[in-house]
Amino acid sequence: MSALLEVKALKTWFGNDKAPYRAVDGVDFCIEKGQTYALVGESGCGKSMTALSLLRLNPYPASHIVAGEVRLGGQNILSLSEAEMEKIRGRRIAMIFQEPQSSLNPVLTVGQQIAEVFKWHFNLDKEAIHHKTIDLLGSVGIPDPNERINAYPHQLSGGMKQRVMIAMALAGEPELLIADEPTTALDVTIQAQILDLLKAIQQKTGMAILLITHDLGVVAQMADHVAVMYAGQIVESASRTQFFNNTQHPYTQKLFQAIPSKQKREEKLTVIQGSVPPLNRQFHACRFAERCELAWDDCHEVEPRWISNEAHGVRCHLYDSDVHAEQKAHQQSF
Ligand code: SF4
Ligand code: MG
Repeated sequence: MSALLEVKALKTWFGNDKAPYRAVDGVDFCIEKGQTYALVGESGCGKSMTALSLLRLNPYPASHIVAGEVRLGGQNILSLSEAEMEKIRGRRIAMIFQEPQSSLNPVLTVGQQIAEVFKWHFNLDKEAIHHKTIDLLGSVGIPDPNERINAYPHQLSGGMKQRVMIAMALAGEPELLIADEPTTALDVTIQAQILDLLKAIQQKTGMAILLITHDLGVVAQMADHVAVMYAGQIVESASRTQFFNNTQHPYTQKLFQAIPSKQKREEKLTVIQGSVPPLNRQFHACRFAERCELAWDDCHEVEPRWISNEAHGVRCHLYDSDVHAEQKAHQQSF
């Protein structure tokens, strides 16, 4: 496999210059062609901001990419003009959102909305667009596409609307599909169908998927590689197997403890105590220290480095032999 997208030292901040919110604060990752890369974490950790930064979309006023590189097929798209960027959005990188409700235009039919994408990116006549739209609706599992092409969003169920969103995203034949919590708003059966659909499309087209989710069940089912975000940074990154068999970061371990399981259903759910620290703070410590049961003095005084061992990386002093050796020596002196 080779790199499709390389993100290096990306920083996206918003708010005033004096105390900006560091929503994305030095993020590095690489997505291979055809790979499903999952970005997980609680809400407010910077996952969606990271995704939007890849498209250079700014959800908040005064949000901007402060530093870093986003290389798509080797080209840094942060240095492109807005006109050049418009040729990438929806064509090379497309995105589907959590709420199909608010992402579809209520006054246009399904067919008109998909046709817009074809018109924008390809030089096709009306007839060709009509046929391609019907094919596409069929391929995302919409029954009777000949009729549904004329339906308005309110005439469709939540699952069908999400299929339409996927069809719109696929119309540009993207190399990378960003799926931001694509199934959160759907019930469990429909959720499974949508995930199966994404997998099947990926097998057919070879596109890569950046999957943003807080659901580790979805990660287990879909991901080849997993990165965990906390307070604007990636704190752990590993292959799916490593991630599930050898979880390292205390925050990731807490996420696992918070999963409801059949056995645990009767018990009280583990909730991770505390909340993500305000991101307009200057950090000189581990960002998770206030919530970490394993924290010691160094955690409150020194920012952890990225420690990586082959394909598994973690940002925690416990895995930094320099820092942790001192801690062990300190403990033994008591
Ligand atoms: Fe916990 Fe310290 Fe590791 Fe941060 S660096 S996660 S506080 S053990
Ligand atoms: Mg989000």
